[in-house]
Amino acid sequence: MAHAPTSHASSQETIAEFERYVVPNYRRYPVSLVRGENSWIWDAEGRRYLDFFPGWGCNLIGHCPPRVVEAVRDQVGRLIHVPNTWYMEAQGDFARALSERSFGGQCFFCNSGAEANEAAIKVARAHGAAKGKFKVVTMEGGFHGRTYAALTATAQPKYHEHLGPMLPGFTYVKYDDVDAVAAAIDDQTAAVMLEPVQGEGGVKVPSPDYLPRLRELCDRTGTLLILDEVQTGMGRTGRWFAYQHANITPDVLTCAKALAGGIAAGVMMARPEVAAALKPGMHASTFGGNPIACRAGLATVETIEDQRLLPRGAEIGERFRSQFEAIREEMPAKVREIRILGTMIGLDLTFDATDVVSQCLSRRLLINATHGHVVRLLPALTISDEQIDQGCAILADVLREAQP
Ligand SMILES: *Cc1c(COP(=O)(O)O)cnc(C)c1O
Repeated sequence: MAHAPTSHASSQETIAEFERYVVPNYRRYPVSLVRGENSWIWDAEGRRYLDFFPGWGCNLIGHCPPRVVEAVRDQVGRLIHVPNTWYMEAQGDFARALSERSFGGQCFFCNSGAEANEAAIKVARAHGAAKGKFKVVTMEGGFHGRTYAALTATAQPKYHEHLGPMLPGFTYVKYDDVDAVAAAIDDQTAAVMLEPVQGEGGVKVPSPDYLPRLRELCDRTGTLLILDEVQTGMGRTGRWFAYQHANITPDVLTCAKALAGGIAAGVMMARPEVAAALKPGMHASTFGGNPIACRAGLATVETIEDQRLLPRGAEIGERFRSQFEAIREEMPAKVREIRILGTMIGLDLTFDATDVVSQCLSRRLLINATHGHVVRLLPALTISDEQIDQGCAILADVLREAQP
């Protein structure tokens, strides 16, 4: 064998292998990554990068968090997989941990955000079926995943191109506009589904009364409120779940990305009365709720609580805010808006951010751009003040040199 999977190929060698054997559906940076520790990550050439976007939001408690590593190592030596025809302690414990930290719901486990949203849409339709309710209202600029129901729920034409027809029964309205939702609800509407902060859509934080007013509207019309917290959940915004800033509870909530410290996992939580609509045989996931993911999830919860990372998330957000304010003051023509909730961080530029990302990469800072002109950061809750300042200095330098 020329290359065992663990051998140390150069970035160039790995890139060549991808070009031949991997479906080209991703735009990738020309770097092969091999090792991570907290907010640092190393490439195949041994270069170290500061990571302001670890694991696309999945590594909320840093690369290779010790308790998660330890829990996974222990679990793979005991039992790797147990199907859902059996009981397993870790799944029950993780379901309880999530339920007690949110709204007392019941959990259906899967492996990704899109799958969690599929489950949410299914449970909403199953719950509404007796009353002929099947329609789902979602928000323009939202993002819910790539499988067909989740993709249909994603009200962004660019993601639907060449892939139609979408699923029937979905209506799209403007984000942060309660009247538009009210106008879209009819007696066939089963659910309203949205992100409490739009992530991929550009880190859009809605007005403070948006969720409370939507809750009221849903109660009045007998519509389920589904919150997609795939990106905002598990401590990302400084609370366990972003809806907890708004003093309401959803009927259904989905979470994935950071759910299990970087191990693939997703969950759909529903109020028990809603969850009861899914009868045995109506929905399933072979790998969902496997003991490795659940042990990793429990270790994630323990890490966040023992290290008091929720309040730290709010502090991190404020440190980025003051760094960004300084950038805006210095370069007012380049910054349109600063949008931050905990460690969900957006710097809306007046020009396309693509070059900013590659310039930061060449200075060994990993960031993301979304919606064209928004620099999006999803730093780890374990990042240090020094690392924040160091990365922000690089970003400021890059913005200073940028020629819009
Ligand atoms: C990433 C994301 C998804 C999709 O999650 P996958 O794990 O890629 O399927 C869904 N909703 C939101 C809000 C997301 O950020």
